Amino acid sequence: MSALMGQMMQMPLLISSLVQHAARHSGDTEIVSKRVEGDIHRTTWAGVERRSRQLAQAFDRLGCAAGDRIGTLAWNGYRHLEIYYGASGSGRVCHTINPRLFPEQIVWIANDAADTVLMFDLNFLPLIEKIAPELKTVKHFVLMTDRAHMPAASTLPNLLCYEELVEAENGDYRWPQFDENTASSICYTSGTTGHPKGAVYSHRSSLLHAYASALPDAMNCSTRDVILPVVPMFHVNAWGLPYSAALVGCKLVFPGPHLDGKSLFELFENEKVTFSAGVPTVWLGLLTYMKANQLKFSSFKRTVIGGAACPPAMMKTLQDDFGVEVIHAWGMTELSPLGTLSKLMSKHDTLDKDAQQRLLEKQGRVIYGIDMAITDDDGHALPWDGQATGNLVVKGGWVISSYFGRAESPLISVDGDPGWFPTGDVASIDPDGFMQITDRSKDVIKSGGEWISSIDLENIAMAHPAVHEAAAIACKHPKWDERPMLVVVLKPGASATREDILGFFDGRIAKWQIPDDVVFTADIPHTATGKIQKLKLREQFKDHQLPAA
Ligand code: ADP
Repeated sequence: MSALMGQMMQMPLLISSLVQHAARHSGDTEIVSKRVEGDIHRTTWAGVERRSRQLAQAFDRLGCAAGDRIGTLAWNGYRHLEIYYGASGSGRVCHTINPRLFPEQIVWIANDAADTVLMFDLNFLPLIEKIAPELKTVKHFVLMTDRAHMPAASTLPNLLCYEELVEAENGDYRWPQFDENTASSICYTSGTTGHPKGAVYSHRSSLLHAYASALPDAMNCSTRDVILPVVPMFHVNAWGLPYSAALVGCKLVFPGPHLDGKSLFELFENEKVTFSAGVPTVWLGLLTYMKANQLKFSSFKRTVIGGAACPPAMMKTLQDDFGVEVIHAWGMTELSPLGTLSKLMSKHDTLDKDAQQRLLEKQGRVIYGIDMAITDDDGHALPWDGQATGNLVVKGGWVISSYFGRAESPLISVDGDPGWFPTGDVASIDPDGFMQITDRSKDVIKSGGEWISSIDLENIAMAHPAVHEAAAIACKHPKWDERPMLVVVLKPGASATREDILGFFDGRIAKWQIPDDVVFTADIPHTATGKIQKLKLREQFKDHQLPAA
């Protein structure tokens, strides 16, 4: 017996279709960029699509084959957007590299991905000149600027000018059609343990992610939005926003490298930004600047915060003092990145504000296309009672099944059901499917066999009025094995003692979970994606003597 087949058009889900759609149906909608050079540049979706075609022709002229990796070291801007579409759309693979990594890591990643072209912003020229001799596969170096800004001399062989490459082509190019499972882009994990690993996205997975993340219970993107991704385009494709924005055809605003509070605030106001996304640390600078200058937003309505736990105090400030809805989200490079977001269901309308807030502070519910479970260490599923915590595992159409160039499968079975990706996060899930991360498994503090959530401790500390930023780490302890200690950066001009901070924990958490010590410091180290660098902190305080109980 043969099944009856559907009789619908076969349209492969290709990234080029996104920019074509935006150009045809929202052609004059603006793409605004604050450039490395400091000025404001304006183009439109039609302009981006035309130049992406010209760029695709330029890749042909350079002799780039299908599947070639095109590396980028660039801030958020229109040229980077053109590379997203020109590279992936023409069957090459867009490989965004995080320029904040150590030079040795950048070299390692570019060599592992075997990038054949490297395209970079003006301010990365000295870095690229330094590492170029070690880049084994790069044939073409392209400076993302115009002729006027090209250096008079460079040690790079045959340094090409981006604008000249694009302008040399006529745009008479038809986007090729190919298998939607073809690779579209690669992002590397930060490699906090061992070498970074490449997550290879496909056109299909990127489009599914773009559709799903635009949904109302996710990022709720509309053609009426003005989206400013603060999250860098080198951090998991700016969480897919360059794709979702094309899908709905809305205005995009790019801040370039200008991420200080003042520059961001001016761009938000001048371009009437409605929606943004970023890791918690980027909002610290903006909010400090706005408070100091008694400023308010006039158009900014909502933001997704994720990549690290959003402290409830920050959520409250944004909501109550600045009128910005905070959507707490969880995801990771291996998930393209969106997995869950916290939005209330209609049955929560009758809850009081505090109860609603507690739900919104969780990492939230999955979007259709992703499924999740929590397991014990033997791979057995744990109940969704909001109490049990276990290893968070996921599966779905935009979750990796393997890493680039690695034969071994990272996937595991749950109660005999194969194909789950272990996230390395520890979480609980409540009966409504609200997931809450309590820790990364490597950051959890194990005191006398009991687990203490570093996120819980940080959230409490961050609610203290004098605290700017706080990190909780495990400290070796002769009796309990590990005990929590807190590293605190105070707000400018504020003062607090160790006792003030520890006293603040009273009544807010079980007594045995209260940190044993507080250390004040001028600065907490952050990873290249703006998250607290726990590994480095643990290293820094490995000989710290906790006061005797
Ligand atoms: P890396 O931080 O290694 O560069 P990712 O950006 O992929 O790589 O980080 C994913 C990890 O970030 C998750 O596994 C989780 O530990 C953490 N994370 C992401 N979002 C949240 C969140 N909302 N709350 C707590 N942790 C989060």
